[in-house]
Amino acid sequence: MRDYEMVIGLEVHCELSTESKIFCGCSTKFGGAPNTHVCEVCSGMPGTLPTLNAKVVEFAVKAGLALNCDITRNNKFDRKNYFYPDLPKAYQISQLYCPICRNGHVDIKTSSGEKSIGIHEIHMEEDAGKLIHDEATGMTRVDFNRCGVPLLEIVSEPDFRSAEEVIAYLTKIRDTMQYLGVSDCKMQEGSMRADVNLSVRPRGASEFGTRTEMKNIASFKAIERAIEYERERQIDLIEEGGKVVQETRRWDDEKEYTYAMRSKEDAQDYKYFPDPDLMPVFISEEYLESIRAALPELADKKRERYVTDLGLTEYDADIITGDVALVKIFEQAAAKCGNAKDAANWILTDLLKLYNDAGITPEDKFFSGDKLGTVIKMVSDGKVNRKSGKKILTAVFENDVDPEEYADKNGLAQVSDASAIEPAIRKVLDVNPKAVEEYLAGNVKNIQFLIGQSMRELRGKGDPKMIKDLLEKFLSEMS
Ligand code: ADP
Ligand code: MG
Ligand code: ZN
Repeated sequence: MRDYEMVIGLEVHCELSTESKIFCGCSTKFGGAPNTHVCEVCSGMPGTLPTLNAKVVEFAVKAGLALNCDITRNNKFDRKNYFYPDLPKAYQISQLYCPICRNGHVDIKTSSGEKSIGIHEIHMEEDAGKLIHDEATGMTRVDFNRCGVPLLEIVSEPDFRSAEEVIAYLTKIRDTMQYLGVSDCKMQEGSMRADVNLSVRPRGASEFGTRTEMKNIASFKAIERAIEYERERQIDLIEEGGKVVQETRRWDDEKEYTYAMRSKEDAQDYKYFPDPDLMPVFISEEYLESIRAALPELADKKRERYVTDLGLTEYDADIITGDVALVKIFEQAAAKCGNAKDAANWILTDLLKLYNDAGITPEDKFFSGDKLGTVIKMVSDGKVNRKSGKKILTAVFENDVDPEEYADKNGLAQVSDASAIEPAIRKVLDVNPKAVEEYLAGNVKNIQFLIGQSMRELRGKGDPKMIKDLLEKFLSEMS
């Protein structure tokens, strides 16, 4: 068998987190009873006119700048005509001739090093509704809630050569969108969807092979599997003397194979033309600069700063910056307790464990960074010990309690008063003569046991350092 190289280009759709739809005032909120976020504009009633939501342009420019694109100054919208039952106007308003962003790139890291993936363009368009097929009745219903939700379509150059590169790119796009606050990019809710264009060619060939397109694959894992399958299918086909046909194929993640959906249509089949209902959109230098100036710090910069300025380990910085919800918790906690390294430690050892045990992520459940900072400070100020701090953290995680109130109510205040600790220690030394004897005979490890017993005597609230110091003092007096 000859050695083949795989070539992949991606079309990624991100639903924008604007409050309202792209051409009407309907809500973009995910879910809701079918056909409750619908009006005469987004349901395509005759005689209605679209009004562009300025936020969509702002979000597109933000995304374009963050992905190193040139921003088109004179924008217009085009109609892409087709019959789809989930888009009742029978055309989609999109951008063919003048996409808002062009010539960008995303730098990715994989096990084989760093690489830059070209972005051909990013354009604005509207989403379609959803068809719901009911097997039992054989009927199909349509929900227009999603119809008219703004989308950015990010079209890459055919620069990928492996599934690993594809996943690294998608992860980076998702992180960037989330940092910018322009899309939540939840694949499971369909707010980020990827179409995978894939071809193979004998390694070393200069021409690309014929590609197929796999649409709307719903998770990173499924994308990896689909790529693997489709690559093998194309190579087998060519080896058998067949030809790859340019077509759209659907990936069935349960049965793990792709099947032909329709032969690929060309741009001319859609009979694109400029939408006469919408004014051209001019982006001024001033507008562009104001958006550039307000861009937030993105993941790469943040990671670097966390390591060089805040002293975090690369590993810790990587984990935290890999999740925008965690970044927020971390920055708030660090600001509150005044110690970034402590904040990172608590997040990596304690908070993430709580999330893991609950089987959720920081994005799924709000956790106040401010309260984490308060807990850390309570511990470092000696008001509660580390163990009680963990207990409070768990209560904040579970019920969002106020840390100080919770500590008061549950009597967690740390005992660091010598007059309270001393009698407890004396008692422990009294009732454990064997451990004391062994310690004095040289088995110094016994101190751990005695600390544990003293802590128990103080019902877990003793200051561990003070207990250890006093124990050592008393024991040395006994020797
Ligand atoms: P269309 O408009 O027909 O969807 P485009 O030329 O815009 O086609 O390309 C769509 C995507 O397919 C792009 O991401 C591009 O990089 C990718 N692509 C184009 N040719 C190939 C190929 N031969 N193999 C793999 N990907 C390709
Ligand atoms: Mg396409
Ligand atoms: Zn509407």
